[in-house]
Amino acid sequence: MKCAVISVGTELLMGQITDTNAVYISRQLNMLGIDVLYRYTVGDNDGRLREILGLAAEDCDLIITTGGLGPTEDDMTKETVSDFLGEKLVEDEEAKHILMEMQQARKHRFTTNNYKQYLLPEHATVFQTEIGTAPGFAVEKNGTTVICLPGPPYEMTEMFRRCVYPYLAKQQDSVIYYKVLRIFGKGESLVETKLMDLIDAQTDPTIATYAKMAECSVRVASKRRTLEEAKNAVEAMVRKIRERLGDNIYSEEDEDLVQVVGRKLIDRHITISCAESCTGGLFAGNLTDVPGISDVFERGIVTYTCRAKIEELGVREDTLERETAVSPEVARQMAEGLQKKTGSDVCVSVTGIAGPGGGTPEKPVGLIYIGCRYRGKTLVKKLLTPNFSREWNRKYAVLMMLDT
Ligand code: ATP
Ligand code: MG
Repeated sequence: MKCAVISVGTELLMGQITDTNAVYISRQLNMLGIDVLYRYTVGDNDGRLREILGLAAEDCDLIITTGGLGPTEDDMTKETVSDFLGEKLVEDEEAKHILMEMQQARKHRFTTNNYKQYLLPEHATVFQTEIGTAPGFAVEKNGTTVICLPGPPYEMTEMFRRCVYPYLAKQQDSVIYYKVLRIFGKGESLVETKLMDLIDAQTDPTIATYAKMAECSVRVASKRRTLEEAKNAVEAMVRKIRERLGDNIYSEEDEDLVQVVGRKLIDRHITISCAESCTGGLFAGNLTDVPGISDVFERGIVTYTCRAKIEELGVREDTLERETAVSPEVARQMAEGLQKKTGSDVCVSVTGIAGPGGGTPEKPVGLIYIGCRYRGKTLVKKLLTPNFSREWNRKYAVLMMLDT
């Protein structure tokens, strides 16, 4: 099956919201072994949507739209799609019943707008969940199936998971299973070299590498008749990759480094505190994204000025004068001062020049020192980032702190 995904909504074109629905739908279709040939974004406009439907139908036998199914005036996806397929809109008794019950339970008045919502294409397979009021549907006409889904991401993903996935899976004779391995501390080219013979010989599973900030991902995918066959093929390949990259693989579930590190700290009951200068709290912020981190995360202190470093962490004034704030000795004293103050098992510190200004020939923008006090020892790490931007430098520093 070849598919086009059409995201409908003027707010998408204006850049007010990010099209997360298209990403989600593409991934799901990929898992089902359905090729996505095109992704379109179009405003709430009948004529333009119709034009895109025409274009998509030339090459694709499946078209999925998201957005514009609601009860308001600007929502017109259903009307346009029905017209395009030559389908009449008729009252759907079941949809009407469910909708009325839902409105009653929510103590909402049934408005004339709502009436619009149970008008559905005559030959539609209706998708409805109790999460949203707008039903989705699929219609097949002359070899083309059009599936229309609501815009709100929570409603859309629920409907996809519960209704659309099974609907499409029934029509597929193969499934795709994949794993994404996350690798830290090795560049993409190095990873590729280590896997070169496997990549060269690939048919199924396929292996693809992607570079990210200080990281690299390897995606291993297999398309087979059953999920079990695909899983087995992927697992066998993952074992081979594991033999070569071993410790550098920190996740086989496509998780972020912070999640993996955070969970390890929680599982082992290792408490942590941080003192940040150039990252301004970013490390602490990221760490608190990890559910359950409150068990081990003691404190995060932002000591941006020299005075703050002296007052909060006991960094020595003469060190700051002699070596400036961005120096290995200051990173060390920050971590050690923090340990005295908090008693946390791990104390990490960071000081650096995030830019764009403030660099000198001896201490350029992108120079960062990370300190880490653990089990009576202090480790200091020096980084010189490629310095793409202030934001990049700061994010990079956080990743390196996590890696320490
Ligand atoms: P509603 O009943 O809420 O009007 P709808 O099906 O008509 O639902 P839209 O009006 O197109 O959907 O979008 C409702 C909201 O859903 C948008 O304001 C936006 O926040 C979110 N949304 C819509 N499309 C997308 C998308 N492609 N990706 C992410 N969010 C989206
Ligand atoms: Mg709407």
